Amino acid sequence: MQEFIEVETPALFKSTPEGAREYLVPSRIHAGQFYALSQSPQQFKQILMVAGVEKYFQIARCFRDEDLRSDRQMEFTQVDVEASFIDREGIYSLFEGMLKKVWKDVLGHDLPTPFPRMPYIDAMNRYGVDKPDVRFGMELVDFTELFKTSAFKVFASTATGGGAIKAINAKGLADLTQGEIKALEEIAKSLGAKGLAFIKVEGGEWKSPIVKFFSDAEKAALTAQLGLAEGDMLFFAAAPWEKACAILGRIRLEAAALLQKRGKLTIRADDWQFLWVVDFPLMSYDEAENRYVATHHPFTAPVAEDAAYLDTDPKKVRGQHYDVVLNGMELGGGSIRIHQPALQKKVFEDVLKIPADVVESRFGYMLKAFTYGAPPHGGIAFGLDRMVALLCGTTSIRDVIAFPKTQKGQDLMAQSPTPVTAKQLKELHINIVMPE
Ligand code: ASP
Repeated sequence: MQEFIEVETPALFKSTPEGAREYLVPSRIHAGQFYALSQSPQQFKQILMVAGVEKYFQIARCFRDEDLRSDRQMEFTQVDVEASFIDREGIYSLFEGMLKKVWKDVLGHDLPTPFPRMPYIDAMNRYGVDKPDVRFGMELVDFTELFKTSAFKVFASTATGGGAIKAINAKGLADLTQGEIKALEEIAKSLGAKGLAFIKVEGGEWKSPIVKFFSDAEKAALTAQLGLAEGDMLFFAAAPWEKACAILGRIRLEAAALLQKRGKLTIRADDWQFLWVVDFPLMSYDEAENRYVATHHPFTAPVAEDAAYLDTDPKKVRGQHYDVVLNGMELGGGSIRIHQPALQKKVFEDVLKIPADVVESRFGYMLKAFTYGAPPHGGIAFGLDRMVALLCGTTSIRDVIAFPKTQKGQDLMAQSPTPVTAKQLKELHINIVMPE
């Protein structure tokens, strides 16, 4: 018995536009003012910790106005948890226990615990993504140093200009058709690549438009580090580090699907490879907005020994954030929170550059609550729909939700959304301006 208390929290919340886009609900009584549908009970559960609840859980309905995909719905359900006086290790063992029990009870499967842990930086460098599917290898290998002095100018200039050169060996995929290569190139381009450099190892030869630029030493290094052999297919990404990882991480998944289709690779849906991805950067820099944004959310605590860099180099600070990843999908995530009002205020104002008056109006009540002696606390949330979908052997959460919305956010049975009457709009003080 873990003795968590179930507490329901409101769906009608306040707009705090720091995370995903929110659904707004107009107030009839307060003209011109809006509620936001809760994206998650995050702030409520932290306040419950201040109130002394100590161990909270809820099967919570969450609402996010994001573009829909097969694994995303505008309203979804999460298993939401928060506890006081808990650290990362406490969360890991609590949730490994929960998942172990669920997998045993539902599938009769014994999950080995503890789950492996992988720092974010390793997940990106080895798998090109922060939710790696580790059921197969085909890991990314870094060749940035090697190509710094290359006669192949495209690689050399990227490598010397602060970017990264990464490669994967899709073993046995040299029989790709022109059409399949083109399709992969389009995918790479959609992620910001200029093209998709490749080498086919076929008939004892390296076939590629770029191979003439490679020196013998470069070829030898590629062969040795990627274990190249007859029939292999090599893909490169040359771009700023994060983009190079993302491009090749996606090509790795596509290549694995093509190998599976050819019967050259077996990836079993019931090969349950759980892991914790840890040591995420607390902040990432948003080029478009020209400021730091929270990688998880702004309530995540920094790793204690990195906190000093908050003032000087926020990029260096790791967050006490963890994600549970299963077979390339993020099943849940959470963090140990900031519980000191001064530190929380500093993160909002000095690091995230949210003006003090905006901080006060959006989060003032939280900062005030923390001055009452907030206990150290942390929590996590699990996508319930996604977990059930995986247990049922489907990748689409729509298969396990009664009355799901379509990809365009419509309920085709009841026909929603719909226009409303002029009287309803008037009561809500709303004028509709239709798009041109
Ligand atoms: N509130 C977070 C989310 O919904 C999870 C957490 O930090 O507990 O993603």
